[in-house]
Amino acid sequence: MSRKPFTGGELNILNGKMGISAADRSVPVSRLVRYHKPKSPTELEELISDHIDGGCPCGCVSKGTVQDFGKNLYKSQLEFWGEFKYSLKECIQWEYDLFVLQMLKGNNMEDKCQSELQKKIGNSYCVENTNRFIDEEFRVDLEVYESNSLILGIQVKPSSFCGVRQSVQEFNINANKKYKKPVFYVYYDYDTEQFLNIEKLVEIIKEQD
Ligand SMILES: [Zn+2]
Repeated sequence: MSRKPFTGGELNILNGKMGISAADRSVPVSRLVRYHKPKSPTELEELISDHIDGGCPCGCVSKGTVQDFGKNLYKSQLEFWGEFKYSLKECIQWEYDLFVLQMLKGNNMEDKCQSELQKKIGNSYCVENTNRFIDEEFRVDLEVYESNSLILGIQVKPSSFCGVRQSVQEFNINANKKYKKPVFYVYYDYDTEQFLNIEKLVEIIKEQD
């Protein structure tokens, strides 16, 4: 993973508005990754195409390959913009970065955050990966428990995600309104893979006592 994925720009707007990467129109990729734990981009790309007919115990069904998702993105330009602004190659690359590179990085960083936080807060707490319902419905990656009662949820994001006013987002009860507890955003530096505000989270958890 030497190349940094690019998942922003106009194609991000197009992809979002046209629902190209919606789980039911592409592949529930976060569930796929959690179940099969692919170790490389090639492995994840193959997993996506291997799930086209379903039938795997993980329950994921893919609506196509990463190339197919790129083609869908490419074709949707005409309806959205009335013209083709980006080449098919660019569109496939964009979906590849989203489904493969960004997904793997995000998943690795969630695991890393889980183990780092667990070490820092000690064994009277438990940091768990969420089940897929929580992840998909509430966008919560990790949960912190103290003797079986839930304290808070955590989202793990690259620092590029937060843009302005990071502190506002860090502990935003409203951001994940449907979720029953506050949700804290842990940010990491994409290149160094260091977490930027994990100490603040440790403080907040300890303050709950
Ligand atoms: Zn499977």
